Amino acid sequence: MMSSARVLFVDHTGQIGGAELILLDVVAGRQNSSAFLFEDGPLSAALAGRGLKLIISQHGRGLSRFRRDSSALAALPLLGRLAAIVVEIAKAARGHDLVYANSQKAFVLAALASVVARRPLIWHLHDIISPAHFGAAQRRMQVLLANRCALKVIVPSDAAAAAFIAAGGRRSLVEVVPNGLALQREQTLRCDLRQALGLPEGPLVGVFSRLAPWKGQHVLLEALAALPGVGCIVVGDALFGEQDYAAQLQQMVAELGLAGRVYFLGHRSDVPKLMQAVDAMVHPSIDPEPFGRTLVEAMLSGVPVIATDAGAAPDILERGRAGTLIPPANPRALAAAIAAVLARPDQLATQLEYAAQRARAEYSLARMCEAIGLLIAKAQAGAAA
Ligand code: UDP
Repeated sequence: MMSSARVLFVDHTGQIGGAELILLDVVAGRQNSSAFLFEDGPLSAALAGRGLKLIISQHGRGLSRFRRDSSALAALPLLGRLAAIVVEIAKAARGHDLVYANSQKAFVLAALASVVARRPLIWHLHDIISPAHFGAAQRRMQVLLANRCALKVIVPSDAAAAAFIAAGGRRSLVEVVPNGLALQREQTLRCDLRQALGLPEGPLVGVFSRLAPWKGQHVLLEALAALPGVGCIVVGDALFGEQDYAAQLQQMVAELGLAGRVYFLGHRSDVPKLMQAVDAMVHPSIDPEPFGRTLVEAMLSGVPVIATDAGAAPDILERGRAGTLIPPANPRALAAAIAAVLARPDQLATQLEYAAQRARAEYSLARMCEAIGLLIAKAQAGAAA
């Protein structure tokens, strides 16, 4: 039997966003693998804790702040550093069976490095490749490199697959592997959880995403202005340089007269607990989401979900059977949906039970890890043949 593949996992950031939480699950049990990060951060310690050897680039610091939609021209002054990182990845790749890129920026450089080092490449694409997030030159380059260099492109949803193909990506490369989660429900009553967490009594909703304009926290604040007496926890921080947006949200709270009702809790590592403490989880993204882990977290937690009807959300929520769908960027529709959910919690029991069952069946951690493990094993076998 072939020994487990030596994988070089590559990510551009040292922060832990949704894609990196998935990476942490994918690397579990792969002690003979390594992780190459463009920069140091909380992700390094988490990966080292799973037994991976860590390689931090000498040249990547600050690159994660380079905007994804920046023009190719803006990247010109960085070319020397980017080339140096390609050399670093290629050198590291030689001691491994395959390269696994976990982000778009990591993929572009890992693709070039995989050619130099002659190693197969898997791209775990956690994004929707669309004009909303990537400039035209970047989209062209990603797709060109994927078509030429990648053995497989893993995407978390049909929506992400469709966007990749629409941008010119080869259909035969794509493997849809839905994100998977394992989450134990707290056995504590909601009111006791609130008390333990220092949260107020009364109607309370929550949003649990990093702070970024496209995540739509501002839409929720606008909706709250029409919902007197409803409180809200905003969980998450500006992980990738969106500090201006974070400040804008604080300012909106003052301007909309929401002071005392909106609690900014920053980045937290106890999201499942906080989620179970609220009466509804709101996912107000204004652009299509490639997946949306928080949807599944809420479904597993038995908390009603209200999400925008775009990207993967309608699939995950089975067109409204497992949660409420609302049009994007529409505070009025969001306010009406929140009011409806808060007004009849008892009537939601069937929906919540169905949602939890669906999440356990379709979005389990074991299922995701098995599917990705198979793809890695196949890539290793192909390289060895
Ligand atoms: N999350 C977290 N702490 C926070 C805010 C969010 O751990 O303060 C987690 C959240 O529970 C979810 C992930 O970050 O598991 C975000 O994943 P999602 O797919 O919703 O969005 P992404 O960040 O990948 O765009």
